[in-house]
Amino acid sequence: MNRKEQFNLLFPNTPAFRWKQIEQAFFVSSIAGWDGVTSLSKEMRAKLVDLPWMSVSTNTVMVGKKRDTHKALLNLADGQVIESVLMENVRGDWTICVSSQVGCAMRCGFCATGKMGLKRSLTSDEIVDQYRFWQTYLTNQRPSLPSNPSRISNVVFMGMGEPLANYENVKETLNVLLAHTDLGKTRITVSTVGVLPRLEQVLTDKDWPHVRLAVSLHSAVAATRKQIVPTSYDDFLPKLADWARRYLDVLGNRRHHLTFEYVMLKGVNDTNEQAHALASFVRSIGNVRCNLIPYNLTDCEFECSEENQISRFLAILGQAGITAMKRKTMGDDIAAACGQLIVLTAAIDKNAV
Ligand code: SAH
Repeated sequence: MNRKEQFNLLFPNTPAFRWKQIEQAFFVSSIAGWDGVTSLSKEMRAKLVDLPWMSVSTNTVMVGKKRDTHKALLNLADGQVIESVLMENVRGDWTICVSSQVGCAMRCGFCATGKMGLKRSLTSDEIVDQYRFWQTYLTNQRPSLPSNPSRISNVVFMGMGEPLANYENVKETLNVLLAHTDLGKTRITVSTVGVLPRLEQVLTDKDWPHVRLAVSLHSAVAATRKQIVPTSYDDFLPKLADWARRYLDVLGNRRHHLTFEYVMLKGVNDTNEQAHALASFVRSIGNVRCNLIPYNLTDCEFECSEENQISRFLAILGQAGITAMKRKTMGDDIAAACGQLIVLTAAIDKNAV
């Protein structure tokens, strides 16, 4: 049960604006607990002490050598632990990479989180509170951080888990963040392995806010995609293309495009033929950008593509008129890069406070 549901149980006849007031207070950094929510009566505040003000607590924070990447292990009330990452972005603001599940059921061959299996989905409180955790962290760290330290300007759902396998809680999180922070819809990206029934739902769900979507494509050749993304299936690619065309028909404009993510695996999906296949797949759809992610080391058989092959791949896409870029790797020295998020029990025991 999340805080809102607990609140409604405690105060069944309270008008809805009360909860909105409380939710707003969650994002005021000078308010550190229920006592600080002075818009509520003393009696109400006293009753609220049983509700967690914060649903995550610090286990460990690791800081990369360049101090531009910070990874937190966060404890949840039931003893589970998740990872959440803070990265400095090109504008000198901060991007946070949030987890939506403890572990992941998708088992992508190159991703460390997949190896953990799925423990459970996070509540919307636990996702929202990753933002609040980093907001407080930035406020406290102000003196020791470079540039403009306190602004979280972007949120990406690229941490542990498959966000669309936790659809309702991710939707609730998006609506809370959009209501109570200065984040606009184009500053939030939900990354998905491509859960088609949920992608269909996004098209018709009036409560789904149209933040950016990124689909982890990884190959436009069906057999290759199946090899590295085991949840893929024979007609996934045509079905995805059909969905993507309808998505762009409804939502595509100058500010709204789709992104395909593509992890670069040497000799697997990085050949010139694969680049041409990706180019024609994208051209059959429309306004799609490609984001090439150099493979970050995990405990598996893959290797990252050679630098010059990544350049060749980018050039082939460029010649086909496709906007493509290589993602900057950050945080690999503290295992905070894409696909490296895995909570090691040994590490937790060692660092537990
Ligand atoms: N489940 C979501 C979020 C995953 S993490 C999804 O599949 O999109 C965000 C991105 O990092 C995904 O594109 C994912 O495939 C990619 N990724 C996973 N492991 C990686 C690794 N070892 N190196 C580089 N990227 C990786």
